[in-house]
Amino acid sequence: MSVRVVARIRPLLEKETDKDTIVRADGGENGQPHTIVKLPNPKNDSEDFSFAFNSVYDQSTSQEALFTAEVAPHLKALFQGYDVTLFAYGVTGTGKTHTMRGGLKLADRGVIPRLLSGVFRRGKKITRESGGETTVQVALSYYEIYNDKVFDLLEPPEKRTATGLPLRAEASGRTVVAGLSERACEDLKDFEKLYIEANQNRVTASTKLNAHSSRSHAILRVKIIQTTGDTVRESTASAIDLAGSEDNRRTDNGKERLVESAAINKSLFVLSQCIEAISRGDKRIPYRESKMTRILSLGQNNGITVMILNLAPMRSYHLDTLSSLNVSSRAKRIEVREIENEVVYKQVPKQVSSLTGAARRQPLQP
Ligand code: ADP
Ligand code: MG
Repeated sequence: MSVRVVARIRPLLEKETDKDTIVRADGGENGQPHTIVKLPNPKNDSEDFSFAFNSVYDQSTSQEALFTAEVAPHLKALFQGYDVTLFAYGVTGTGKTHTMRGGLKLADRGVIPRLLSGVFRRGKKITRESGGETTVQVALSYYEIYNDKVFDLLEPPEKRTATGLPLRAEASGRTVVAGLSERACEDLKDFEKLYIEANQNRVTASTKLNAHSSRSHAILRVKIIQTTGDTVRESTASAIDLAGSEDNRRTDNGKERLVESAAINKSLFVLSQCIEAISRGDKRIPYRESKMTRILSLGQNNGITVMILNLAPMRSYHLDTLSSLNVSSRAKRIEVREIENEVVYKQVPKQVSSLTGAARRQPLQP
């Protein structure tokens, strides 16, 4: 099982009035990727805080570059039977949806359409190289977790019940969402149609509730089923656009916002604890403590998890940026004065077990 925690700093947008850029990428000389995020201490501008990550992507990083560096390398393992889980974490407005979904123009497309494109391409290649003996099927599920309730995004919002879909424990110990729909997907066109429709469902549903989609987690599950004779190999890629990590209480004191806020804080807290436990190589991962991590069985399968922390560079995000860095970097925060060659305490999440060897889906060995 392996976990990577990386950060991505988005550029300033034209319309933005706060042009005071305070977050920057550092470290990784000689053409190596950056590994450090730096920003000033809010209490003392002449001091910097540094946070270490597996990689840090700066303003200039294209969608393609991010995908190539952080997702494409895991496609092979996915087809070998490993699960791949990708999270976008961060404050609302920092680029989570841009990173995951992206824009419509080819160059703007995010991780999800690129992942699907890669999956279909590799699937075809496997079938071709096996002389047609191995068939590859792709099935999609897409749901959101809002106020700790699960809603199917492939179904129209009218079909939603107040309680959402129930969870069920299978004999294998896995938790599944009972009644969650799954659609077969033949190619990228199929996927795009479903995906656009589902995202529209998400917007409609949240408008009805007078909520905002930034307050729910959207989870896309791509199931890959490879069949050769009577052998079936199944694996899953999950891409999660998380709810905004900002403290909603600061901006809105309404009772509903408080309920939302509590649900978001709890699930993001559990998620960060799971990521931390996985990166430490702990035997016990507290994945049962929240619905999302339970459904994802986070850390219970051999697999790869990539957490992308999205950051906005401006001063207006200062406190929220700092708190999201604290949660997701898990590197010890140190105060660094503006001097050259400063020592940075670095605690990069451990890369656990390599992905070579028998490619079988197997439970985590204690
Ligand atoms: P979030 O989903 O975290 O709330 P968004 O993905 O909606 O944030 O991003 C906020 C705004 O910033 C959007 O207008 C988006 O297009 C833009 N944006 C985010 N990241 C980038 C980037 N890397 N390059 C260009 N624009 C970006
Ligand atoms: Mg968003």
